[in-house]
Amino acid sequence: MNTSDAAPVSGGPRPVSSMVRPHLKDLVPYVPILPTDVLSREGGIAPEAIIKLDGNENPYGPSPKVRAALERFDAYHIYPDPNQGTLRSKLAEYVGVSPASIITGNGSDEIIDLLVRMFLEPGDTVVNCGPTFGMYPFVTQVCGAALAEVARRPDFSLDVDAVLSVLARPASKLIFLASPNNPTGNPLAPRELHAVLATGAIVVVDEAYQEFSSAPSYAGEVAQHENLVVLRTFSKWAGLAGLRVGYGIMAPQLAHLMDQIKPPYNVNVAGLVAAEASLDDRGYILGRVGRIIEERAHLFARLRVAGFLEPIASEANFILCRVRGKDAGDVKQKLERQGIFIKHIDTPLLPNALRFSVGKPEHTAAIAAALGSV
Ligand SMILES: *Cc1c(COP(=O)(O)O)cnc(C)c1O
Repeated sequence: MNTSDAAPVSGGPRPVSSMVRPHLKDLVPYVPILPTDVLSREGGIAPEAIIKLDGNENPYGPSPKVRAALERFDAYHIYPDPNQGTLRSKLAEYVGVSPASIITGNGSDEIIDLLVRMFLEPGDTVVNCGPTFGMYPFVTQVCGAALAEVARRPDFSLDVDAVLSVLARPASKLIFLASPNNPTGNPLAPRELHAVLATGAIVVVDEAYQEFSSAPSYAGEVAQHENLVVLRTFSKWAGLAGLRVGYGIMAPQLAHLMDQIKPPYNVNVAGLVAAEASLDDRGYILGRVGRIIEERAHLFARLRVAGFLEPIASEANFILCRVRGKDAGDVKQKLERQGIFIKHIDTPLLPNALRFSVGKPEHTAAIAAALGSV
């Protein structure tokens, strides 16, 4: 052992808390949603009585062929392919880009984290356009970068002029834009994206809900724009939220750099088997996506009938509602007592609101009945 490196001990060991990176002490933590068994235990409700519409999960679950493939798979004891080659080539065909443009991750959350670790240093600024997905400010804080908030306009479209003026500051390096946006459900317009891309900043377009949207994907544009990164995931359309498989689409030279900082076994074998089987059975799964899109219209009508909810048109598998004349937190609790879990949002940019994930027809009926008694 080489003892010459050891720091001289004066007043005993330093408290470990003094060694934590100082900016992490004031971190505003990410507020995650909880799985059904935890909701059941904490709420004293039988798991089969829970209608879980707080996480934009797929109420139909994975394709039956995914379950069969997971059962058939016989190499759970072997490390996964660090290059995720089979999944990436299937994805390349699904998305219409080259496999060299794709990086797969432990959910698209991991790609978000890799992006900030790849690009940001203390002193850099990330532009965030709220109301939006909470992961963006969270990962920005964790890596010690600054956040510039540019609020969306009242119709939740981008305030492009304000975004451009913040991106013009030298410290601004990266912007997150979800399309369709969570929790508002509206897609990013091409002219908004192109204005932002022209600044040269890294533009991350998060298409977690793309399969539910009638607006075209921006994935094909990574070939023309080196500063564009598009994120997709199996969590929502394919019903694999618990298995954690997402991916980023970007110029091959950027993908190559990201590959070098990526943990090699970040996607586990179950995730790989399930994602590959989902792509092989995409016709069936997209059929269920079609049912969810149909159900979205029914849910929208039922929410509006309640009288105190103002549903906002959505291209995703959820509907945001502003609540009028009642406390949204109260409404959430009353629905929870009937086993219905939805997301309560109450922030300066989006006060007194509720987000309902689109479920099956019987879930819409349960919501309608419960709202009638609120
Ligand atoms: C749900 C969601 C994700 C998370 O996707 P994972 O692949 O499950 O990590 C990413 N972005 C947005 C906007 C989401 O709503």
